[in-house]
Amino acid sequence: MLRSQSKDLFARARKVIPGGVNSPVRAFKGVGGHPIFFKNAKGPYVEDVDGNSYIDYVSSWGPMIQGFTFQPVVDAITAQAQKSTSFGAPTEVEIELAEMIVERFKSIEKVRMVNSGTEATMSAIRLARGITGRDKIVKFDGCFHGHGDSLLVKAGSGVLTLGLPDSPGVPNDLAQHTISLPFNSIDQITQLFDSRGGEIAAVIVEPIAGNMGCIPPAEGFLETLRKVTRKHKALLIFDEVMTGFRVASAGAQQLFSIEPDLTTLGKVIGAGLPVGAFAGKKKFMDRLAPEGDIYQSGTLSGNPLAMAAGKALINTLDDEFYATLTRHTDELVLGLMKIAAQTDIPLRINHFCGMFSLFFTKQAEVTNFDQVTQCDVDRYRTFFHLMLDEGVYLAPSAFESAFLGGQHTSDVFDQTLTAAENAMRKLHS
Ligand SMILES: *Cc1c(COP(=O)(O)O)cnc(C)c1O
Repeated sequence: MLRSQSKDLFARARKVIPGGVNSPVRAFKGVGGHPIFFKNAKGPYVEDVDGNSYIDYVSSWGPMIQGFTFQPVVDAITAQAQKSTSFGAPTEVEIELAEMIVERFKSIEKVRMVNSGTEATMSAIRLARGITGRDKIVKFDGCFHGHGDSLLVKAGSGVLTLGLPDSPGVPNDLAQHTISLPFNSIDQITQLFDSRGGEIAAVIVEPIAGNMGCIPPAEGFLETLRKVTRKHKALLIFDEVMTGFRVASAGAQQLFSIEPDLTTLGKVIGAGLPVGAFAGKKKFMDRLAPEGDIYQSGTLSGNPLAMAAGKALINTLDDEFYATLTRHTDELVLGLMKIAAQTDIPLRINHFCGMFSLFFTKQAEVTNFDQVTQCDVDRYRTFFHLMLDEGVYLAPSAFESAFLGGQHTSDVFDQTLTAAENAMRKLHS
């Protein structure tokens, strides 16, 4: 497969854009080679600048849960663009999207829109610190919450792919307020709260981790987080930027029946436009300016183009959609596991509705960051490139989840499984 135009564009990009990309994982450092530049997409297929077509399992990292150029979204954006892309003043469509979120999430009474997941988590942390009057926050190794200063500690995929455990530029004075514990360790979080509970403003967690590959919460883990935060009057923040409207309409909190104090959203709610949101009970959210004293703002927040796109997409996501997507995900994963068994490739696949991760490993399970780092990254690299040549675009990093949606139908699965079978056979030889 010829990809010379992508290669040329990458060389050109590197002259004017740091590393040639506007977000590090795109640079293919995790898999080697040069990134692929795309020019258009439809349904499950993306087409690169050299004219090659691929079945895509990145879904723009989540938002494309109904496929690319999904007609209701295209129509909504087109209609809104005719009216104006922005006013810098309130619009009705902001209320409509907020209402849709409030209606679906039991834990949410009010929503503030922002422009990215990073902004959502940064703002939620400030709100939690303002409410509790405490500075310390707790996160988990391998969980990624965007690149905000307080959260860039042991932070999963992007950072992991690049091998940067931390980042220069984050002041020590700030990083020292972040405590990072192993994901799924009930003992360690319990001990921490027993000894220092009174200092902790918030625990922030991906309720299903997705940025070190897909890692489900261990039984009792989320319940423990709920219990200790309540007992010590710290806030529990579920970062559902990835899992919101993906694993269920009300995210992982619906699947596990836990109500966090604050929730952050992004990705799917913007249908591919830049959006984030943070949300929760009225008593917390009303502490925000202009109602309250905790400041947060955004020139383009609640942007009507993004709101219209999100509204059009979410309108199509009902319980039946998620039931079907769950079944499809199971079906694809089962097919892949079968091929791995036949070709004698040690493989584990963690999955939930609409997301899955391939771990090339003999470990019986992959439940935390330590186990993730023990997987065979070289094998993923090889597999990634073999799949590319078979016309399947997976995430360009062993530490990312794959995403699928309504666009991935049985015939797309058949093509994917044929590609995977060819790739796995070659992996062996
Ligand atoms: C993607 C992601 C973020 C960051 O969102 P951006 O829009 O990239 O800033 C934060 N948290 C989680 C769980 C994510 O998956």
